[in-house]
Amino acid sequence: MVRNPERRGASLDDAATQPVAVIECGPSATFLVLTANESFAALLGLVPSTVVGRRLGELAGQVPAARPLAELLAAGIEAAALLPMGPGVLRCEPLPPEPDGRRLVVVTGQDETASEAAAPPDDAALQALFAGAPFGIAIGGADGRLLQANPALWTWLGASETDTAGRRLLDVLQIEERSGVEAALDDILSGQTRTWRGEVRLRPGAGSGRVVRARLSAWTVPGSPAEGSRAPALVLTLEDLTDSRRAEAEARRAARYDPVTGLPGRPLFLRRVADALARADGRPASLVAIGFERLPALLLALEPTEAERLALSVVDRIRQHAGPRAVLGQLGDGVFGAVLPDADTPEAAEAALSRLAEAFARPLSAEGGGLVLTPTLGAGLHPRDAADAAGLIRTAGAALERARGRPTRRWALYEPRMAGAALARMTLEGKLRRAIERGDLELHYQPQAETTGLAVTGFEALVRWRDADTGSPVPPSEFIPVAEESGLILPLGEWVLGEACRQIAAWRTAGLPLVPVSVNLSGRQLADPLLCQKALDALARYGVAPEHLKIELTETALFGSSGGDREALAQLHEAGVRLLLDDFGTGYSSLSYLKRFPIEALKIDRSFVHGMTEDPDSAVIVQATINMAHALGMRVVAEGVETPEELTFLRAYRCDQVQGYLIAKPLPAAEVAAMLHGPTG
Ligand code: C2E
Ligand code: MG
Ligand code: MG
Repeated sequence: MVRNPERRGASLDDAATQPVAVIECGPSATFLVLTANESFAALLGLVPSTVVGRRLGELAGQVPAARPLAELLAAGIEAAALLPMGPGVLRCEPLPPEPDGRRLVVVTGQDETASEAAAPPDDAALQALFAGAPFGIAIGGADGRLLQANPALWTWLGASETDTAGRRLLDVLQIEERSGVEAALDDILSGQTRTWRGEVRLRPGAGSGRVVRARLSAWTVPGSPAEGSRAPALVLTLEDLTDSRRAEAEARRAARYDPVTGLPGRPLFLRRVADALARADGRPASLVAIGFERLPALLLALEPTEAERLALSVVDRIRQHAGPRAVLGQLGDGVFGAVLPDADTPEAAEAALSRLAEAFARPLSAEGGGLVLTPTLGAGLHPRDAADAAGLIRTAGAALERARGRPTRRWALYEPRMAGAALARMTLEGKLRRAIERGDLELHYQPQAETTGLAVTGFEALVRWRDADTGSPVPPSEFIPVAEESGLILPLGEWVLGEACRQIAAWRTAGLPLVPVSVNLSGRQLADPLLCQKALDALARYGVAPEHLKIELTETALFGSSGGDREALAQLHEAGVRLLLDDFGTGYSSLSYLKRFPIEALKIDRSFVHGMTEDPDSAVIVQATINMAHALGMRVVAEGVETPEELTFLRAYRCDQVQGYLIAKPLPAAEVAAMLHGPTG
């Protein structure tokens, strides 16, 4: 299924009979088998698909044959080492470290006969070695003519003894660039040197372009002095390096390209971006980062072939919509990058972002399982936003981070204020985590009152957090979204539930008249299967009756909810905990769910309440909402009531309750106590 010419060079040629594997030695002693051929896998009693992509240490746990190699690598090898294995010997050769510190070790098989050749030979053994050696051996006379060659050499050359009788050794071999060998041969024959070694390439046609390591040595077999032109004067051995060279080349490639998508990995992509910017020669160009949150987990979970298909179908779609001149690469796990030379203005960059986002609204191809994967996109414009490739990638990343988690329009073009935003967000998350752990949060309570007589009927609990370092309060609009994205909303929400119940119990103990307290829940909390249990536990812990606790949910949270969430809400309702629909009018405004959920009251968003006295449309919306809610048997709370005029309107529209600065700001619990004493005496 190699559809893309840029894809990695598939796997090693499995026809190669020598075992070959490339192993990546990561910084924490992980030995990942990047590639291996059939012969290598067979040494372990396995097939390549069960070896490639596995860690050697893990394999060694299951396959004893893999242990010696794992141990050798674990001990660390600096130079080529030989390791007896199976019927042969493995040569393990470390390559120079990659720029990112990884090291690749090329493992190639060598026949044991070769390493045992030093055993004292008798004639028959020498003959057998000569005939069976897996490397080429040629013996030349004092005149440089070929006297004898072994079968391996004839096979490589595709020639025979009869074709070559009496010809010069180097003519028979058909070596490209033969000047070096020629000089060495002359030196050996004239007695100036005794050995020479080097690498040569055999001409295509002769040895089909093989790369071989050649060793020339003067003939030194005792009792056979080199006399006369027919006497042996030198030995040439040729060792085929083609397989290990190919393995090396592939290893280098594997280190630079993503093994699944075949796209350049981050270090190589960085260079490609720099090249593309250099080619643009000062003309503006954009870099888009396209992130898929679900993709890394999906790729892990799927069978390798399915994962590959999915990844390729994502890349295909990017390629189709990025334009013909785009330069693609991989920026991280599930994050792709594309330099778009044609997106040379902010408008063009935004158009490209929107086009790419749109392209993924349609399901992926059948190869990608017909899935819909929604990306988040960010882009930076060179040279407006950054002077170099690394800076440009950072701007695209900052813009992507900014667009993350948006319900719609999940893309953004970089703006200078985004610089540092990613870091600020990270810092905020860390601080919030510590604040939750240390119990540094507080609840304030804002009264809800009857519209008519303004008697307090309940409170809304609103979380407050003071940054311990700066001492200043952080508004919920800043930290609640961070809590939602990081998952911290779960411990935070649990704390709010417990704290509200604790406070209700404390007011009761103080002999104050009890009114319900409503707490805000986020969509993430609604999806928590333990939500209902947690709420009931909090009530039970402080002996609070369920009707004294209410929950507020926004339309957006309800709209995004699943069947399981509805179940949790139904259970809570069953237990007596009432539900208020918060910020009504700002969400999806689909009225159908009003019937699907057990909603006690709607809270009209303060934007409508504010608009009401000046803008007739807002007034109509408020009035219609109140009438509709009443017709459906729900009550209405107006949020953010600040002025007596607003209160007058709301009274005229027969709104049930009001909440806002006109009545009171959210207050610390101690001040609420005074208020509870107030109206009741
Ligand atoms: P919300 O639930 O709609 O809360 C009402 C917000 O309006 C509060 O802002 C409140 O202080 C503010 N407000 C009340 N009266 C007035 C008024 O007359 N004028 C104006 N301009 N504003 C008024 P706050 O406390 O900043 O909370 C903002 C949002 O943060 C809340 O909106 C809620 O969605 C979220 N939030 C607050 N506490 C929690 C919590 O404990 N859990 C969760 N999940 N979300 C919370
Ligand atoms: Mg609320
Ligand atoms: Mg609200």
